[in-house]
Amino acid sequence: MNDCLFCKIIEGEVPSTKVYEDEKTLAFLDINPVNPGHTLVIPKKHSRNVFNIEKEDLRAITDALSKLLPIVKKSVNAEGINIANNNEAVSGQIIFHTHFHIIPRFEGDGMKLWTGKAYKEGQREKIAEKIKRELK
Ligand code: 5GP
Ligand code: ZN
Repeated sequence: MNDCLFCKIIEGEVPSTKVYEDEKTLAFLDINPVNPGHTLVIPKKHSRNVFNIEKEDLRAITDALSKLLPIVKKSVNAEGINIANNNEAVSGQIIFHTHFHIIPRFEGDGMKLWTGKAYKEGQREKIAEKIKRELK
């Protein structure tokens, strides 16, 4: 039995306010929005997060995002948009079915973003080298 909430939304077992659907993706309004129009875009095929989603599903999501972004922005007269995607609990993922947030933004809406920290001496170069090595 699949206990995933978003799979249940796809199956229609849990109600949602759907705004877009294609062969591989579904988009619906977040039940607890940062701002009105906050939309979630998900693959119809279950994956936990970006670490195990299939490439073609991720591509389908980026296609759906590019279609939805200007339309969501316009529909709520937002001044900007954040795209957010949390992967694993440490990053804030609560629902373990891959999803991308489209968050309409308004001046003074109070949404907090991350704060930056300085690198230690030499750390930045070391990390960049490691990433580049692993990519080869
Ligand atoms: P996460 O923190 O996992 O990136 O975000 C999960 C999002 O799913 C949250 O913004 C939360 O409000 C939303 N959410 C949780 N349960 C439901 C639900 O039953 N319906 C809808 N539409 N959104 C939900
Ligand atoms: Zn699922």
